[in-house]
Amino acid sequence: MPDCRMSGNKAAEQIIQWGRSYWMETCFDRAQALKPCPSGATGACCRICHMGPCRFVHSSEERVEKGICGARLATVVARNFLRMAAAGVAAHSDHARELAIMLLRVARGEITGFDIRDTKKLHRMAGILGIEVDGRDKYDLAEEVAERLIEDFTRQWGILNYIKRVPEKTRERWERWDIVPVGIDREIAEALHRTNIGVDHDPDTLLLGALRVSLADGWGGSMIASDITDILFGTPNPDKSEAGFGIFRDDHVNLLVIGHNPALTKTLMDVISEPDIIEYARSKGAQGITLGDIFGMQQGVPTAGGFTNQELCLIMGIIDAAVVDRQCIMPTLADLAYNFHTKVITTSRKAHIQGVLHMPFDLDKTGETAREIVTLAIDNYPNRTGMGEKVKDRAVVLSGFSLESLENMNGDMRFSFSHLNNAIAEGRIRGLVGLVGCDNPRVQATGVHTCLAKELVKDDLLILTTECGAAACAVSGLLDPENILKEAGPGLRKTCEEMAIPPILHLGGCNDNSRILNILSAIVSEGGLSDEIGGLPVVIIAPEWMAEKEIAVGCYFAASGIPVIMGGTSPVEASEDVARIMTEIWYERFKGALHFEPDYERMYDMVIEYIDRAREELNLKAYEFGA
Ligand code: SF4
Repeated sequence: MPDCRMSGNKAAEQIIQWGRSYWMETCFDRAQALKPCPSGATGACCRICHMGPCRFVHSSEERVEKGICGARLATVVARNFLRMAAAGVAAHSDHARELAIMLLRVARGEITGFDIRDTKKLHRMAGILGIEVDGRDKYDLAEEVAERLIEDFTRQWGILNYIKRVPEKTRERWERWDIVPVGIDREIAEALHRTNIGVDHDPDTLLLGALRVSLADGWGGSMIASDITDILFGTPNPDKSEAGFGIFRDDHVNLLVIGHNPALTKTLMDVISEPDIIEYARSKGAQGITLGDIFGMQQGVPTAGGFTNQELCLIMGIIDAAVVDRQCIMPTLADLAYNFHTKVITTSRKAHIQGVLHMPFDLDKTGETAREIVTLAIDNYPNRTGMGEKVKDRAVVLSGFSLESLENMNGDMRFSFSHLNNAIAEGRIRGLVGLVGCDNPRVQATGVHTCLAKELVKDDLLILTTECGAAACAVSGLLDPENILKEAGPGLRKTCEEMAIPPILHLGGCNDNSRILNILSAIVSEGGLSDEIGGLPVVIIAPEWMAEKEIAVGCYFAASGIPVIMGGTSPVEASEDVARIMTEIWYERFKGALHFEPDYERMYDMVIEYIDRAREELNLKAYEFGA
């Protein structure tokens, strides 16, 4: 196997190289071995009907003009893009649907082990939904909130509930271009319909379709998922935790949870704190039980990193059970586990891995299943073989930021965003950057996130981070406030010290990108900057993206008025017309845009150009370093 550095994290690289010396293959090796199909990678392959697939490349490498049905290249590229967005929306929103049903069942007393943890948030959501709160029991109220949110999935007329949270001017732009979503499932079905053979052939309207379905995620499914998670598990508040492979200890029973289901993580957390379970672990020779996750730091659980670190955890040889639920899980966990003693357990009805133990995490018996899983891990602890590359690196992390926690940190009693807005207006903070998206073995995984993050804070840009981008920052020590404050530019540092926040704010997992939308709406309603989300000095970057969910994320931010720059190669590269619509035309219509930019230095320059242009158009004080 070629010996080249693939991860931006030293400990990850050490594990990769150890695995290679024993012929253990990871995504890094497969990324080198598998070359992308040049037609598919650029959006130029249509396989929507069985007259095709039509590859818009001749064997002589000259472009063909039309598919067998007559569809032109731009149609095919836009259609493929819309299908990616719709698939991403389906993933986020199906997750949200499960949470909405869970809230309903908790409210009706049908399931035990969960409760309404944040009544204040429940009241806030009820207020937004126009539900009467006074004198009502929290379960009665939660039932109505859940029913109202479940309607968002099946609505056939009207608009999504949360459209009322969108600043008016932003909403007017959506009405003008007919992209206001009605119902989540309806928008996904319509996207699949209009991309069938012989339906929509206009790249412009297909791409407007991508915005519309994606808005049903950002201001629908993802936002619903974050809100219900807050109600059931508590709204995040800044809290210290740890990140890195070293969260797992040699003398502990180690449980790795991979996925996105907060109920699974919470139940496992509860079970590992039970005295009889701790005693049982001790009886097997362990000093305690450690639960760590991949992706999210859900509910403050320490994280071993993002997507590309999941296989590497197993190569340490000290994971007694890897418990997975849904989304972004590698089936090769089972292949790697074969080399060690690790038990891999799937738990979701929708996400199986061939040959792997399946223990359904059914809401009617969550405690029982979680206890079986933890017991299995404890019983497996004595079976460790001593094989594996153990690394001890771990970093301090401050995570758990949210709209609600930021409202509390603006130094006044009316929960406003005045302090932050003033710092932006006066140029102490140059602007905001959302650092989001996956990590990806086709680039120097996690390294692009961390390299850009360090540079951005130096230039007084406050970072809001989520998903694997946040995990990359966490593992690299960039979420340790003491470390990162030293790196920040003088204006950003001063503002962060005044507000008692670090320069990089960890907001959660992929559905928590919706928290960024709510923070930006709060900045708009505070006043003094832009009167819509578009035009704020804000840019979103997803430098290592790979999942369809990120296309949906990119589109809903762009439609909301934010320039988005995604890294790596472009899935619409085959059509200049499509790329122009997504950048120039969307910017004219929505003040947002979606770029794909493989050169990370250029990406950085584009961030600065967009931010400074927004400052100039808003007549804000010109940014000056150290002023
Ligand atoms: Fe080819 Fe048209 Fe069928 Fe696509 S829909 S595979 S372009 S014939």
